[in-house]
Amino acid sequence: MRSIFIPFLTLLTFNVLMAQEHAHNHGRKIEFPDVPGYHTLKCDFHIHTVFSDGNVWPTIRVEEAVKDGLDAISLTEHIEYQPHKQDIPHPDRNRSYEIVKDLANVYDLMIIHGTEITRDMPPGHSNAIFIKDVNAIKVDDPVEAFREAKRQGAFIFWNHPNWIRQVPDGKAKLTDLHRQLIREKLLDGIEVVNDITYSQEALQIALDNQLTVMGTSDIHGLVDWQFQIPQGGHRPITLVLTEERTPESLREGLEAHRTIAYFNDLLAGYQEPLEMLLKSCLVVGKATYEGASSVVEVQLSNEGDAPLILQNKSPFSFHAHADLVTIPPHDSIKLEVKTGQQLRDFELTFAVLNAVYAPDKHPLLSWNVVVTP
Ligand SMILES: [Zn+2]
Ligand SMILES: [Zn+2]
Repeated sequence: MRSIFIPFLTLLTFNVLMAQEHAHNHGRKIEFPDVPGYHTLKCDFHIHTVFSDGNVWPTIRVEEAVKDGLDAISLTEHIEYQPHKQDIPHPDRNRSYEIVKDLANVYDLMIIHGTEITRDMPPGHSNAIFIKDVNAIKVDDPVEAFREAKRQGAFIFWNHPNWIRQVPDGKAKLTDLHRQLIREKLLDGIEVVNDITYSQEALQIALDNQLTVMGTSDIHGLVDWQFQIPQGGHRPITLVLTEERTPESLREGLEAHRTIAYFNDLLAGYQEPLEMLLKSCLVVGKATYEGASSVVEVQLSNEGDAPLILQNKSPFSFHAHADLVTIPPHDSIKLEVKTGQQLRDFELTFAVLNAVYAPDKHPLLSWNVVVTP
């Protein structure tokens, strides 16, 4: 019996080690390049712990964020919903932030004080971040709650406007109350991505009302389980393009709409920051002709965590691809372009199909490729 079991266990151990090695090689940390003039900060501003309806202690959220390579997080407990109250009868709604705030120095992670204003629709749920005291926001009238958060200097965004429990057709739509909040400048952003959902209606609402595009995990359990990290998944986040790596600069980037929601390989945001990010992700390497051939070989690299799914919009066709070209994350491909004659330089133009700057609108980007003689 023993002789059968030992090789089995050894094999099992070997497989586990191999799986860890595999995960390590590809990296769990979410990585995107900086763009010219800006840092690309990785942020998750919608997270729960046992101090509302989450299942873990606040410090675990910090450790998860560090593992994911995030730059900033916010623990956003429901103000009005505390199902673990019998076990954790803490009346101070700032408590989860208080527990972790000093870890910001230990881990070089920005921890932004926040909360979730939790109401029926309308207005539904909203996160207020960059606040000072959650307890003061605990008032009956929902508009008054927004006003108090704003008095504290909050940046406020509408959470999961597509939540089926509040909008059964899954389509985000503005109500008169939302229009009032926007008019009073009490609403700054909207979740286009929440947990495992993407809302193109929310993206349109953002564009129509100059709201910031947000993507968040809204994690309640473990990030590893919900987003299948061991299988190569990632939590949804907001990439914010900032001048400095500081809370003040982060705030400025959010208000300037320099954000991209990243979810399930999809990148969604306003056109300009989205194109800046994509331009920095795709790096054109050496281009050469072989002998007298007019088929040029170009090295294309992807420096980001999202694959780049490209559709050819150039006048040239390819020698080994149809019109679709995918560059995996942190990898490169060799593209053979039939330019008809040997050129000194030429344009490559692609639509990036896994990126959207409006519902079903994909950025069209061009690269000037200079041929090495
Ligand atoms: Zn919510
Ligand atoms: Zn939530």
